[in-house]
Amino acid sequence: MRPASLNPLFAPVTTLPGIGERIGRLVERLAGGRVIDLLWHLPYGLIDRRATPTIAAAPVGQVATIAVQVGEHLQPRTQRQPWRVRVHDATGEMTLVFFSARGDYLRKLLPEGEERVVSGRVDLHLGVLQMVHPDYVVSPAQREELARVEPVYGLTAGLSPKLLLKAIEAAVERAPQLAEWHDAALMRRESWPAWKPGLLAAHNPGSEADLSPLTPSRARLAYDELLAKQLALLLVRRQRRAARGRPIEGNGKLRAKVRAALPWTLTASQQQATAEIERDMASEQRMVRLLQGDVGSGKTVVALLAMLIAVEAGTQAALMAPTEILARQHYATMAPLAEAAGVSLVLLTGRDRARQRAETLAGLADGRIQLAVGTHALVQEDVEFQDLGLAVVDEQHRFGVHQRLGLASKGRIADMLVMTATPIPRTLMLAVYGDMDSSRLTEKPAGRQPIDTRTIPLERMEDVLAGISRQIDQGARIYWVCPLVEESEVVDLAAAEDRFEHLARLFPGKVGLVHGKLKAAERDRAMADFSEGRTALLVATTVIEVGVDVPEATVMVIEHAERFGLAQLHQLRGRVGRGDAKSTCLLLYAQPLSQNARARLAVLRESEDGFLIAEEDLRLRGAGEMLGTRQSGLPQMRLANLAHHSDLLQVARDDARLVIESDPDLSTPRGAALRVLLYLFEQDATVPTIRSG
Ligand code: ADP
Ligand code: MG
Repeated sequence: MRPASLNPLFAPVTTLPGIGERIGRLVERLAGGRVIDLLWHLPYGLIDRRATPTIAAAPVGQVATIAVQVGEHLQPRTQRQPWRVRVHDATGEMTLVFFSARGDYLRKLLPEGEERVVSGRVDLHLGVLQMVHPDYVVSPAQREELARVEPVYGLTAGLSPKLLLKAIEAAVERAPQLAEWHDAALMRRESWPAWKPGLLAAHNPGSEADLSPLTPSRARLAYDELLAKQLALLLVRRQRRAARGRPIEGNGKLRAKVRAALPWTLTASQQQATAEIERDMASEQRMVRLLQGDVGSGKTVVALLAMLIAVEAGTQAALMAPTEILARQHYATMAPLAEAAGVSLVLLTGRDRARQRAETLAGLADGRIQLAVGTHALVQEDVEFQDLGLAVVDEQHRFGVHQRLGLASKGRIADMLVMTATPIPRTLMLAVYGDMDSSRLTEKPAGRQPIDTRTIPLERMEDVLAGISRQIDQGARIYWVCPLVEESEVVDLAAAEDRFEHLARLFPGKVGLVHGKLKAAERDRAMADFSEGRTALLVATTVIEVGVDVPEATVMVIEHAERFGLAQLHQLRGRVGRGDAKSTCLLLYAQPLSQNARARLAVLRESEDGFLIAEEDLRLRGAGEMLGTRQSGLPQMRLANLAHHSDLLQVARDDARLVIESDPDLSTPRGAALRVLLYLFEQDATVPTIRSG
């Protein structure tokens, strides 16, 4: 159980003064709904209100805190004019300016003839000193507390900076003093403050330098997070190791049949991955292995061979894909091979009819059906296996941890294979998965030709369309991807629909459209039309990113390529170049390109190596962003940013190892403090695995 001292931090933000339901929802959208989420919401800037000059000495263009005498209120004559209030001190005059403010409110805030202290940016407008919407207007008694350095936090629409500042101050105040969990020598070497003082310092920067991720207070907090994650990973791994699996060994007969039915031979890395999986499955320990392979590297067949090991051993296997399209595609690929091996295979999705679904469930429960491919429908409660030996999860980062583990938990002690088409840079691999076993498919199947990648400004659309027209005449199959920016799906969808109409007019009867808002049946129909050649050009939003396989497609056009991340562009491009014909990728971009976008497009033009591209992506975006973007789907880090803290990650890993070796049950005083750390970073599930005392 979480130590009671931490409970106030996990209470809802509405338990903080000044935060009601409405503001609470805004805070939740911004940082999270609990007090601790505000602790982790660190300032990105600061405002220095310490300067308290006279009006005459006030520096133009800078923030100042000035004691003034309130003069006349100048009421606006039209709605668009601002309300003005004259103020002065012994040295000069200034005007306070308020747009669309209520007069009665302002008269109360700034009563004529009284003293007030105002703080805000001083400007010069038509020769007159003014302060537009002062940040603060307080009585002279409050001058001292106002004249300080104020942290500046990221905001969300509707949330006032003052309110947020107050809430965060209250949150930090609520943080308890906690016993130190870090090694004393490390603390000395790095000059780190203790946890609570560190938290206070991180939220109260005195200068720009204090905002650096490497400043001691921030580095300490980042290290807290890194150590908690590394420790949790090692604890889970240790537990998994300790839990006995069961050896799953096959006689190779089914696999031999499938290999004989394949029109090609396995690549060397497919063979190696298959051997690694075979070895893991045969061992006493439970397998949890990551299969990383670029788009088109041929993960599906590796998965099928692994699944057949399970069947040879007399158990069942299931593969879960993140989307309906993908599940159907895996099914389509595997069905003829399963048939060749004489193994029964079913597809299970959320769209099955009741009768068929009941039949499938019965077959899985009594073992007549040996292999299942499906969507998250596979992890629904009523799905039971007679004996699930292997759970394969495809494109796992799209699933939540619950769903991922959910499939494996359908088996007594099922082995688990996790496939991802997003090559994960080594640094991230460590941060996210610890030292989870992984197999990498590093080569493309033989016979593939390099993809000719070109970057073209959008102004040259006419040329592009002329080229597309020629391609269509020659019978090519073409993808046309329109960007979807999450902020405004409606607008983006409109852009894709416009493009579709435009192209459909140019190439009547030959253009299809898929996007995420289509009904599943319509989407499937559009995909099928394209893959079977009834349409030649498929306009798509990024829904096609995930593993769609149409080997005949040879042209990929990406509109506004500058808006996509590097990894995503690489994924999209991987939709072509899957057959033996020569393929082209056109990256259309809007000018002017930012330096970073230019670099991204250049990397793509020059390389097709997914592992290299992933490293470059990390470098160009910074790991914080890579981890933070929802697209990457990788677990988010709140305080650590691998672009800055990768050295600390290494230290954390060694540190965690030492702890596990010397104090595996976390029973020493430091161990007890480390337990608190694990709770602080919500690794609760890993803590009960420790025998107490
Ligand atoms: P991934 O899932 O890794 O993106 P797939 O498993 O869908 O890749 O395979 C991509 C394509 O390559 C498929 O059409 C598959 O049949 C083919 N393929 C897989 N392995 C080989 C191989 N060793 N030689 C030739 N083609 C292969
Ligand atoms: Mg795939």
